[in-house]
Amino acid sequence: MSATSISYFQADVPLADCTTFHVPAQTRFFAEFDSIERLTELLQLADQQKIVRRMILGGGSNVLFTRNFDGLILRNRIGGIEVVGQDQDSIFVKVGAGENWHSFVEYCIKQNWAGVENLSLIPGSVGAAPIQNIGAYGVEVCQIIHSLQALDRRDHTLRTFAADECEFGYRDSIFKRGSRERYVIINVTFRLHRQPCFNISYAPLRQELERMNPDKLSLQVVAQAVINIRSSKLPDPRQIGNAGSFFKNPILPTNQWAELKLSHPNIPSYPASAGQTKVAAGWLIEQAGWKGWRHGDAGCYPKQALVLVNYGQARGQEILDLATQIIASVRAKFGITLEPEVNII
Ligand SMILES: Cc1cc2nc3c(=O)[nH]c(=O)nc-3n(C[C@H](O)[C@H](O)[C@H](O)COP(=O)(O)OP(=O)(O)OC[C@H]3O[C@@H](n4cnc5c(N)ncnc54)[C@H](O)[C@@H]3O)c2cc1C
Repeated sequence: MSATSISYFQADVPLADCTTFHVPAQTRFFAEFDSIERLTELLQLADQQKIVRRMILGGGSNVLFTRNFDGLILRNRIGGIEVVGQDQDSIFVKVGAGENWHSFVEYCIKQNWAGVENLSLIPGSVGAAPIQNIGAYGVEVCQIIHSLQALDRRDHTLRTFAADECEFGYRDSIFKRGSRERYVIINVTFRLHRQPCFNISYAPLRQELERMNPDKLSLQVVAQAVINIRSSKLPDPRQIGNAGSFFKNPILPTNQWAELKLSHPNIPSYPASAGQTKVAAGWLIEQAGWKGWRHGDAGCYPKQALVLVNYGQARGQEILDLATQIIASVRAKFGITLEPEVNII
């Protein structure tokens, strides 16, 4: 590697503070980009230097490093929030992929733009939100995505994806499947509503709103209710390392679910697409005896079994070993194979 390229890439950079799991690992090379031009330049340099493995990192709140990364990590810092259109009902807002998700939500609420309030306090960047179609409290981000722009790593061209081309599903999109390594999301355009259409169908959200007993429902009130619930049941990654839900809620064919319900009448479940039922993974894990389990600094969070935690010094491999044991025991007890939601590297 030449002296010039070394000045572009930092070498042997620790990653513990780059992810919310805070597990120890380091990357061979690291750089940040705040524009398409800079990203293209870095990718070309990586080609020249024959650095094969590359990974885009946002806030690091949905990744678990189980070993050192022998390649180049590029952290996205593309900013900017811009109104690009409006009509009678909607505001179209284009947001740089490196913007912080929750700061964007706060910004929308201040402007009185509706649609994102249920997604308050989700860590991470705007650019990662479409990757796994983030969702919470009855809302998924695909409901407010109009389009996005992504750089094709193969030929460095910019491509626009309309929302229906992203093939959004439950914690899923084409960017998490076949095109995982191919595109870098540069910006996302959201369609937000001028008039709120509150979604308070999720029972704990309704209960929290009843407890708060506001004079009237507003975007601020709904966002605050979501923040209250999240703060009471999820560990703050600044204090306890974690990546939120470690597993997806399994979706079963309704006949398999009906059979399960016969032997486990209390199993919490929700309707999914036609002929399918979503089952609460946290409940399955709890029933398998893992809630509150801890070995060394790796554990299963006592208030929410779906969240695996690093109490301090756990290594990524220890968290992965725990996840593997949980998968095996849930499969043995219920015949269901849990699938990780977190990206394991
Ligand atoms: C306490 C806590 C609570 C959470 N709650 C929720 C929740 O309620 N709902 C939910 O859906 N998720 C939740 N998450 C998970 C996480 O916040 C989201 O998945 C978030 O969108 C990840 O953003 P990030 O910027 O941190 O992504 P990262 O972790 O940095 O990256 C995640 C993946 O996306 C890729 N990636 C990131 N940016 C780009 C880009 N610009 N272009 C291409 N690829 C990219 C990365 O390579 C990686 O594969 C939670 C996490 C924590 C820690």
